[in-house]
Amino acid sequence: MPRPICAEIDSKALSANLARVMAVVRSHNQQAKFWAVIKANAYGHGVSAVVSSFAAADGLAMLDLEEARKSREAGWKKPILMLEGPFSESDVRQAQQLGLTLVLHQPEQIRMLGQLQPGNPIDVYLKLETGMNRLGFPPHVYREAYLQVLDLQNKAVVRTISHMTHFACADSDEGVREPMQRFQEAIGDLPGDWCLANSAACLRHSTELGRLASNHHRDLWWRPGICLYGASPFDDESAQSLGLAPVMTLRSELISVKSVKAGEGVGYGHIFKAPHDMTIGVVACGYADGYPRHAVTGTTVYVAGKPVSLVGRVSMDMVMVDVTEVPHAHPGADVVLWGKGGPLVDEVASSAGTISYELLSGVTSRVPRKLK
Ligand SMILES: *Cc1c(COP(=O)(O)O)cnc(C)c1O
Repeated sequence: MPRPICAEIDSKALSANLARVMAVVRSHNQQAKFWAVIKANAYGHGVSAVVSSFAAADGLAMLDLEEARKSREAGWKKPILMLEGPFSESDVRQAQQLGLTLVLHQPEQIRMLGQLQPGNPIDVYLKLETGMNRLGFPPHVYREAYLQVLDLQNKAVVRTISHMTHFACADSDEGVREPMQRFQEAIGDLPGDWCLANSAACLRHSTELGRLASNHHRDLWWRPGICLYGASPFDDESAQSLGLAPVMTLRSELISVKSVKAGEGVGYGHIFKAPHDMTIGVVACGYADGYPRHAVTGTTVYVAGKPVSLVGRVSMDMVMVDVTEVPHAHPGADVVLWGKGGPLVDEVASSAGTISYELLSGVTSRVPRKLK
């Protein structure tokens, strides 16, 4: 008998969110091209579940070879970008077979590429470090890296060379001005497309980035991720106000309902004590399903269509909720932890001191995904 938990995936919402971010960006950059980011098992939604919903994208971006293989098996024929590039020489050969585009962010990767036989050349994205201090060639060595890759292009190992960077603060006041100055200084007039923006930069900086690309006569590739899954990249603007629809609905059921007297504790450690006589519902969903253990008492859960409060500690397989005011709360009653008919995943994340990215990508493999 399966537990009553599942993650419903709304494929229409996926396509609608992609259309939404494409429309926002295209109003400033008509020729914009889009990588739909599907790393981390499509932010927890399941690679095979999302591939066909992103048919309007120009490519898919991820970082796991297995996910690239799954995307090809699901029928994806357009480009696939490997965001962290190859980890070994064997990756480079497999990338060549699967027709993948590789990010190159450090010298060792250029060396690996140099081991390939000429013929069947691959597309590469050279990554510049512009202030995040994570991945990428620092500006002073970028041209040297470019010349090495150009040499591989002349040897028919590399086909096209594009330029990319990643912003640390696209969601805050710092924005993208400083990193873009560094980017223009380092890349200048080197030929090749540009690829710059995550969801936050797509939704907040498309005017500025579109203008820079058009000044330099560059094709610009955008890399939205989280917004495609209906969550907001900002802590000061909701997904709804950005025109994004929730995609994943994490559903379960009550598996027990009990009366608790005033003063009694509920759950591990008794961190919650009933302030008055209460009815407590037990939900078949816990942190081993990916529900955040740090969600506090008061986090919203919907039971039988009504918002109620989580109470006490989240346990591995269950959470408890206060259903005193829900007359239809009986074992088998519908529960929505987040998504349609429940709280926004962003709200649950904030109640647990984290972000929707972590919640969505953290839904564990024991939760079946159901494509709607
Ligand atoms: C994850 C990632 C993205 C997408 O970021 P979102 O904030 O989810 O839009 C884009 N580019 C790179 C390099 C990434 O790692």
